[in-house]
Amino acid sequence: MTETVVDTDVLVVGGGTAGAVAAIAAGRLGARTVLVECGSQLGGTMTTGGVEWPGLFFAWGQQVVAGIGWELVRATAELQGDPLPDFSQSVGEAMHRHPSFQVALCGGLYAALAEEACTQAGVHLRYYEAPDRVLRDSVLRAEGTEDDRDGWTVTTHGKGVRARIQCRQLIDCTANASVVDLAGFERHRGADRQPGSIIYTLTQPSGWKSGAGYKHQRYVLGADVTTAETHTDANVRGRAAFLKAFRTLRASAEGRDARVLSVQPETNSRETYRIVGEYEITRDDYASGRVHDDAVACMYYPIDLHTPDGVKPQHLPERTTVTIPLRALIPRGSRHLLVAGRCVASDRLANSGLRVQASCMAMGQAAGAAAALAARLRISPGQVPLDQLRAALRDQGAVVPGS
Ligand SMILES: Cc1cc2nc3c(=O)[nH]c(=O)nc-3n(C[C@H](O)[C@H](O)[C@H](O)COP(=O)(O)OP(=O)(O)OC[C@H]3O[C@@H](n4cnc5c(N)ncnc54)[C@H](O)[C@@H]3O)c2cc1C
Repeated sequence: MTETVVDTDVLVVGGGTAGAVAAIAAGRLGARTVLVECGSQLGGTMTTGGVEWPGLFFAWGQQVVAGIGWELVRATAELQGDPLPDFSQSVGEAMHRHPSFQVALCGGLYAALAEEACTQAGVHLRYYEAPDRVLRDSVLRAEGTEDDRDGWTVTTHGKGVRARIQCRQLIDCTANASVVDLAGFERHRGADRQPGSIIYTLTQPSGWKSGAGYKHQRYVLGADVTTAETHTDANVRGRAAFLKAFRTLRASAEGRDARVLSVQPETNSRETYRIVGEYEITRDDYASGRVHDDAVACMYYPIDLHTPDGVKPQHLPERTTVTIPLRALIPRGSRHLLVAGRCVASDRLANSGLRVQASCMAMGQAAGAAAALAARLRISPGQVPLDQLRAALRDQGAVVPGS
């Protein structure tokens, strides 16, 4: 087996909802960027998982998430003439019907456009690989002084290849804080977890209308996508649940003509690990719309905790939006390390809202920009001057709270 050695400024692990955007943000800021993804395409839960209805980009009549994620979502819709929701209607009571402001799109097309954007930003893509070791390269000479070589060496293992990737800054976008764990920092999850789901598309008009068909989902209780073994179990149980539901439908009078248009190749988790961060976003922060001093992203979604019986979203007071502090993207006590996406440091209820796709994209862009600037300035992401980070994000079209 060959071993490849790669030297880079920013390494993003996980090319899903957050990770693809993080890599594009870093690449566009001139950082040499590598993206390692264990699957075959970008977009993660949104594309491979089939959750092809990202939200929310608009709330209370204004845009709350813009930037690279929005650019890709809009380009996906526009390329094949799919209509966007009328966001001017996202006001008052209409926000209690928030799914109508999510964007129905084609996941495969999004993945192709995200890949094109990565390539144009100079991102070096590495599919079918996952890290097995994450080692800190520390050449600290004295407190507070660092060297060019400070960063990480990440070894990855993939189909027919091993790689040793040296990077200045590392971003964990695996959704499960897998890299944070390998690097020796804390992550946690509770005994209770939201159900996962398998998604499939039928001709039968009882699910969510999307493109030519109707999306359906079956809950998969305890679905855990954290390891190959648990993800295999979740996939097998998910496909069995799909088969059972489809056979039942075909045996019924109203479903006897139903046909399957697609079954997603993976079962998804709604909830796995979250990091222990420099700051944990609480439910109270979330519901009150607290504006954090180091806010780098904005989002809106109701609190959205699924149970085996379904979900009853808790809507936030009118005009409330949520801010995401940079410290919630930094594993506690770490340097040169960030996360973006579902594993953001947050309590369970705050996380049930923060995990949605537009929010993951906004976090991805913030993390990618912070890592690129940190690599350029030879510092840790938490030390990047906020005004510089916010200016870089605004230059990339992002909505950023604060001045
Ligand atoms: C059934 C369901 C319905 C949902 N409904 C909505 C909705 O209506 N609206 C909404 O906006 N959001 C919704 N969400 C939430 C949202 O889709 C996810 O929380 C979000 O997409 C997670 O983004 P992420 O970037 O953190 O992770 P992901 O998009 O899952 O990306 C993680 C990526 O990392 C890769 N990876 C993992 N481990 C490794 C490794 N060790 N090495 C290399 N690569 C790795 C994965 O292959 C994947 O590509 C839903 C989620 C589920 C499961």
